[in-house]
Amino acid sequence: MSADFSEVTVTSLRCEYLENPLGIDILSPRMSWVLQSDQRGQKQTAFRVLVSSSLKNLNHDTADLWDSAKTESDQSNHLEYAGEQLTSRMRVFWKVRVWDMAGRPGRWSEPAFWSMGLLRLRDWEARWVSFQFRGQETALPSLRKEFDISGNIQSATLYATAKGLYEIRINGLKVGKNLFAPEWTSYRNRIQYQTYDVTELLGAGRNAIGATLGEGWYAGWLQQWPPEKNVYGSDLELLVQLEIRTDDRELHLIMTDGSWKASLDGPILTSDMYAGETYDARNEWRGWDKPNFDDGNWKSVHMKRHLGKARLVSQLNEKICVTEEIAPIALSEPRSGTYVYDLGQNVVGWIRFSLRGKAGKTVQFKFNEMLNPDGTIYMDNLRAGCLAEETRRQTDEYICNGAENEYFEPHFTYHGFRYVEISGLGYEPTLADLVGRVFHSSASSSGLFACSDELLNRVWENATWSLRGNLMSVPTDCPQRDERMGWMGDAQIICQTANYAMDLAAFWNKWIKDIRDDQLGDGRYPSYAPYPLADDRSTGKSAWADAGIIVPWTAYVYYADKRLILEHFHSARGWVDHVHRENPDLISKQKSHGVDWLNIGGTIQNEFFSTAFFAKSAGVVADMASVLGKEHDARKYRRLCNDIRAAFAREYMADDGVLAGNSQGAYALALAFDLIPDHKRRQVATRMVESMNDNDGVLTTGIATTHLLLCELSRNGYHDEACRIVKSRQMPSWGFMVEQGATTIWERWNGYVPGVGFADNNMNSFNHFAFGAVGEWMMRELAGIHLDPSHPACKHFAIRPRIGSSFAWVEAYYDSLHGRILSSWKVAGNRASLNITVPVNTTADVLIPTKDVDTIEESGKKASMSEGVSTVKAGENNSLICVESGSYEFAFHV
Ligand code: BGC
Repeated sequence: MSADFSEVTVTSLRCEYLENPLGIDILSPRMSWVLQSDQRGQKQTAFRVLVSSSLKNLNHDTADLWDSAKTESDQSNHLEYAGEQLTSRMRVFWKVRVWDMAGRPGRWSEPAFWSMGLLRLRDWEARWVSFQFRGQETALPSLRKEFDISGNIQSATLYATAKGLYEIRINGLKVGKNLFAPEWTSYRNRIQYQTYDVTELLGAGRNAIGATLGEGWYAGWLQQWPPEKNVYGSDLELLVQLEIRTDDRELHLIMTDGSWKASLDGPILTSDMYAGETYDARNEWRGWDKPNFDDGNWKSVHMKRHLGKARLVSQLNEKICVTEEIAPIALSEPRSGTYVYDLGQNVVGWIRFSLRGKAGKTVQFKFNEMLNPDGTIYMDNLRAGCLAEETRRQTDEYICNGAENEYFEPHFTYHGFRYVEISGLGYEPTLADLVGRVFHSSASSSGLFACSDELLNRVWENATWSLRGNLMSVPTDCPQRDERMGWMGDAQIICQTANYAMDLAAFWNKWIKDIRDDQLGDGRYPSYAPYPLADDRSTGKSAWADAGIIVPWTAYVYYADKRLILEHFHSARGWVDHVHRENPDLISKQKSHGVDWLNIGGTIQNEFFSTAFFAKSAGVVADMASVLGKEHDARKYRRLCNDIRAAFAREYMADDGVLAGNSQGAYALALAFDLIPDHKRRQVATRMVESMNDNDGVLTTGIATTHLLLCELSRNGYHDEACRIVKSRQMPSWGFMVEQGATTIWERWNGYVPGVGFADNNMNSFNHFAFGAVGEWMMRELAGIHLDPSHPACKHFAIRPRIGSSFAWVEAYYDSLHGRILSSWKVAGNRASLNITVPVNTTADVLIPTKDVDTIEESGKKASMSEGVSTVKAGENNSLICVESGSYEFAFHV
């Protein structure tokens, strides 16, 4: 490359966090890119973005929509589109070039695009259609329509949604890879639609479109304590608008209206999230989703005249889709004719199973996570007691049609399982007959942790499996029993670990809207979102409601999403104001859900716990106000936060630093939420360790405080203690779960204890992510990757690993919005090395655990002389090295 050009390359162009998204319904979408370079100290000094209405224009540098012009700025994320007004359906192409630290321009990026969705209600000409009078005995409805297209098709876009779930097929092929569309929102307020490019599926002449509807969260069994059906409505409805442009520039509209036909005689007899699916292959219609099908005995649909009150919004989070297939590792026959497959991994999804049999043969599949001592599948934790009697649990049935190559794969149910028990087959299957299909909201992985202790590596993996499996449009508590709700308490516990492990910016953006949609008028947040309950019994609960503040703030810190905070600020303030109104003495009497739930032996008083969260939320609201430049609010909530802290210390802290309850969790919470005056922190931390020693070093923390305890131990000089806890194999510990063969994180420390058996069947999931929040400690305290809230999205960050203790090496990366951050260290004898990568356009403070600053080497020379190192400063026990972007290899004595 010529010296006049920069070698910085621009990659990963995204719009609203998504690559080439369709159906954006935001008028000023935000563009982001990632820079790459091998040079140290590289940064962007200016950018230019071109936005065009066609690829041709863009390729000719004709920016007919927007030319940002060369803009001197280091901004590479969230650049708001500021060109010509964007209108419904537009396809928009863009590219970017940047100028580097020397002011040299780089090459243009590859082009990217997005398309606009249907921005105005009147863009929807389609109407909701349904098949009314659906009885208990009928199959799920299928709807269809045939149509003719003359002329060559230039483009075809499908906008679709449902009340219920939908699967759409065009000319025999499934549209998109989405599962469970339109996903779960607060349906009374907001229903998502999906946008698909279906140009390739259509042809000139006769075409057919067909849809099958499922009940899903809308009309299927949904937990209401006890579960109920038809919580949002009983009629399944479909809304489809297919817009086809032919080369005469004519627009052909195919949409749901009174002309569609429907049938209830199809193969999917039932398909329920909790219960499972029954599929009668004898009812399959050959060619129903293709043209020239005889639908003479199909019925007319019922069409609604109005679109209804709920807003139709575009889905801007990653779709739920299959991300992995898993082959089983073992097959057994615990009872004659009953076969059990073991996937070797607890997963969330379903199976695809090849089978044969005479027409009418019924094969049953039961799914769950553990086995009974006799090798049959353990189903008791699916909570028979809570479900209405007629409902099954995680059980599919397939009725053969006698064809030669039959296979079963369900449609509108999902299971949490490692084992599949099959009966009714009548012959011995093989391992190859079954494949596990894993799915979840398909946000990409963004982090990896590995170290010299295999146990911890498994714990990290278990946590990420539990995380993935519980991202099902909302962050669910569990994937198997009759619950699977977007429990907010669990989400605020896991959100830091989750953000290190996966790129959840778009996912949180969607779910935070769900939270806001179901906030009560007086400011109370629900305990789970969406919140379908008609009464307020699960609202306003501390730690759970506080997720409405903690999760958006955490998303801001990781993704610098100021718009998210702007949209949410009023709502966040509403919750804090509510607690303040109800508790003018600043000691919060808000109830919680079991406080530090699932602890073994340690308690925290409810008011202690709630006041801690009150202070935390007030402080975060002050931080949000500062980010938004609302100085008055910032001062007001900072003062409130300080007043709550003072009240907390007065009420709960004795002179000797002992906190009320004297439990590990109480200390961890108070320290982590900064409720202890600075001059008392040391003393309180000592009390924390004493309370551990009083219990022989055994954990007594529950889901709300375990991760906080680890972080506070490390932060306050007791890192060896934290390492000992994490490496323990005694119950309660992660190691104990792993010793019992866990491949995901359990809900309870004592979910299964040899010699004792399974814990309380009513509440004993083997796939709950809350205790997986140990991942935050691994990434932050072991690998040392620290985000800095005042420079969000890692524009500036710190690498402060705790080198040594009982680990020989740690290696981790985190893919920030600016690119990959790497931290990798090793100790051998008294020599240690630390290799790091700092993304282009960012800077980092590196803390090296030696005060002997002159002995620190970087790539073989004195660190202070190294290119990219801006400052080197010796501290009491550490040396601070400030670096610009690039990769560095430090070596030093420990
Ligand atoms: C869930 C928890 C949740 C809790 C509230 C449970 O059923 O599984 O994780 O936070 O309810 O107490």
